[in-house]
Amino acid sequence: MLFLCSCSAAASTQKIGPDLYAYISENDASANSTFLVSDRGILVVDTGLNVQEGRRLLEEIRKVSQAPVRWIVNTHYHPDHRGGNNVVGPDAVVISTAFTRTKQESKETQSALNETLGAKGLTLYVGSHEVRIYHPGPAHTRGDAVVYFPDQRALATGDLFLTNSCPAMDDGDMENWIAALEQMLALPVEHIVPGHFEVATRTELQRFHDYLASLRDQVARMYGKGMTLQQVQSKLDMNAYKTLRQFPQYEATFKDNAAAYYQQLDKKQRGK
Ligand SMILES: [Zn+2]
Repeated sequence: MLFLCSCSAAASTQKIGPDLYAYISENDASANSTFLVSDRGILVVDTGLNVQEGRRLLEEIRKVSQAPVRWIVNTHYHPDHRGGNNVVGPDAVVISTAFTRTKQESKETQSALNETLGAKGLTLYVGSHEVRIYHPGPAHTRGDAVVYFPDQRALATGDLFLTNSCPAMDDGDMENWIAALEQMLALPVEHIVPGHFEVATRTELQRFHDYLASLRDQVARMYGKGMTLQQVQSKLDMNAYKTLRQFPQYEATFKDNAAAYYQQLDKKQRGK
């Protein structure tokens, strides 16, 4: 079944399943959000860059429901995913990995109510809907969380996936990131809310995976031959993926991604 947005062109909220909405930020520097509504409470995944973006999101939520925001999931610690927490859900329980919690600048900006994800993750029930929140291991950062809505066949990925764009990379783990994407692709999902840009299907998720896998294979092969980072960057062939956004459309370039993985390989090599 298709749920099409009945809102005006300027609005950026799309219904992607029963009671489930994707909020696609018009500001590429501010993350997307996903919200699931029930009569008794709302769950929100990521809250935008700052107070202003949080207010915009809350306005969209209020067009759908007046119920209290009871849970906020922060997919990772980057400010564009949690800057709106205090506006969107001042009394909400904030759910994140322990890593994300410790990366918040000060105790003052931490929520009083915080639930951290264990190895097995967390399953919540919001109204009649199941929500599974899990940590796939280090990927975009060292403490990402992914939110799976099984009965909605939907996934909120945080920055583990960006639609038609190469990603920004923090101190994560490229090889495990690709494994995490494979794990996502094994789920029966149809609607995928990325960290940034438009709602996607499996096709875009697969292509993003293939881009990272190709980058991994090429960089690892050249690193193995003893090539310098500059040599690797100049030999990299990403022609098949040239329509993906790079700086200045988004934060990073293919060369930046190659550098991030090259450094991870170097670190592992030196750690031996
Ligand atoms: Zn991020």
